Amino acid sequence: MGHCVVPEAEAILDKEFPVLDKGFIRLVDYMGGDERVVQSARVSYGEGTKSYREDAGLIDYLLRNSHTSPFEQIVLTFHVKLPIFVARQWVRHRTARLNEISGRYSVMKDDFYVPAPSDVSLQSEDNKQGRSAEALEAGAAEKIRAAFAEGQKAAYAAYTNFVDEGIARELARINLPLSLYTEWYWQIDLHNLFHFLQLRMDAHSQKEIRLYSEVMFEITKKVAPRCCESFERHILGGVRFSGEELAEIKRRLGGADAAGGLSGKALARFEEKLKQGRQI
Ligand SMILES: Cc1cc2nc3c(=O)[nH]c(=O)nc-3n(C[C@H](O)[C@H](O)[C@H](O)COP(=O)(O)OP(=O)(O)OC[C@H]3O[C@@H](n4cnc5c(N)ncnc54)[C@H](O)[C@@H]3O)c2cc1C
Repeated sequence: MGHCVVPEAEAILDKEFPVLDKGFIRLVDYMGGDERVVQSARVSYGEGTKSYREDAGLIDYLLRNSHTSPFEQIVLTFHVKLPIFVARQWVRHRTARLNEISGRYSVMKDDFYVPAPSDVSLQSEDNKQGRSAEALEAGAAEKIRAAFAEGQKAAYAAYTNFVDEGIARELARINLPLSLYTEWYWQIDLHNLFHFLQLRMDAHSQKEIRLYSEVMFEITKKVAPRCCESFERHILGGVRFSGEELAEIKRRLGGADAAGGLSGKALARFEEKLKQGRQI
């Protein structure tokens, strides 16, 4: 019942998993695993250890029924290197603890994100917050990438000039762009990590943070594989239906004509949800 050691997690401790062109995630530490969720749930039910199959069933039951607190007993600490614009989105998740490199104290490294050619796209026409699924043709994408790199080089040269002239580092940095990489230690419990992953692995999230989330999910599977399996089955591949949408589903299952229930934008939203969901 003491400290949980998960061999698969031990094997990847400190290993850097690359993300984007210069970023990474590594698992610094973890506390607990599937076993800890089961132990803590059984404490609240006043029951002892049971078989492996029953344990997996219990985890699935807890997750399906939003009995979330046993998942808070697992804690993970990640070291992440990420562009500042990704960090801006990431930091909105308030239920974590973090420590970031200080640009007031340290000289920032010459590390900037330049999107791969396949990621350079026009503004999406139907999604105001996203990019079109199609990349620009190779020559045009290379031009954009070169322009990004040129701007980054100029901004970094100005920054180092300021630092060399003795300007305070906290001021010298203020013209550095959002593509600059930063680093932090980020610690979160599994319940809140699942919430983060649900939002940030979703297709509506920006691709760059989605890639980090996907890598983080693979790492988390090493720590708590059965919890992740239940999360993938019941939450990640799912969508939430409203009361009127549920009525529409019942109507359709009852054999009624698809038309005639929801209409207009409500129908379009419903149809969109039916198309959503991850392949599992
Ligand atoms: C695709 C996408 C697009 C987004 N676009 C924008 C945007 O355009 N502009 C923008 O500003 N943000 C945007 N966000 C950020 C979004 O609004 C949330 O801030 C972010 O997803 C974090 O979610 P959260 O608050 O549920 O998570 P957490 O901060 O991790 O909180 C988890 C849960 O804890 C509870 N909680 C935490 N803190 C409090 C509190 N102080 N009071 C009450 N309850 C609390 C809430 O129930 C919350 O759901 C976007 C997010 C996504 C995924």
